[in-house]
Amino acid sequence: MSVLKEVLAANAAYAADFGEKGTLALPPARGFAILTCMDARLDPARYAGLAEGDAHVIRNAGGRASDDAIRSLVISYKLLGTREWFVVHHTNCGMEFFTDDVMRGLLATSLETAELGPDGFYDVGAGPGSAEGQYIDWLTISDQARSVTDDVRRIKAHPLVPARIPVYGYVYDVATGRLVEVPEATAAGAAT
Ligand SMILES: [Zn+2]
Repeated sequence: MSVLKEVLAANAAYAADFGEKGTLALPPARGFAILTCMDARLDPARYAGLAEGDAHVIRNAGGRASDDAIRSLVISYKLLGTREWFVVHHTNCGMEFFTDDVMRGLLATSLETAELGPDGFYDVGAGPGSAEGQYIDWLTISDQARSVTDDVRRIKAHPLVPARIPVYGYVYDVATGRLVEVPEATAAGAAT
């Protein structure tokens, strides 16, 4: 069965048991937002105990505080009333396994999926690639505690983010499922 068929079958089962969820309000009921990585092993609804309608979850590669993530967070508080935010990066993140230069080189060579070996990603596909990769900041990570702290600091320093919103910094451990606080990040994210 194709992925498309699997997804549509799963959705049909979900919708058949939708219950009262059709009457949920648009603003998140529990008033908070989580910025986290797109990694397939992370399920914010489960690791943070969310039901439909509870919270905003903003995801991208690394869970980084990119301009677009901040755009979503600003909408989250300004129009939809969130009052507390989390930045959650995680152990064994794919964003630790390459640099801008590596990604740009891989894309310049080929648009096939690269492979990950002991020395990092390498190309196995045929060209052509594209030079467009050099115009993107890939927001890679070299140290999770530092990336969480950097992102909390960037969010807190943003002129469109009010000082009253606390931003908590955590690293999710993919080996245990636990959220581990990054105290330096949470301190930097304290409401003032
Ligand atoms: Zn990740």
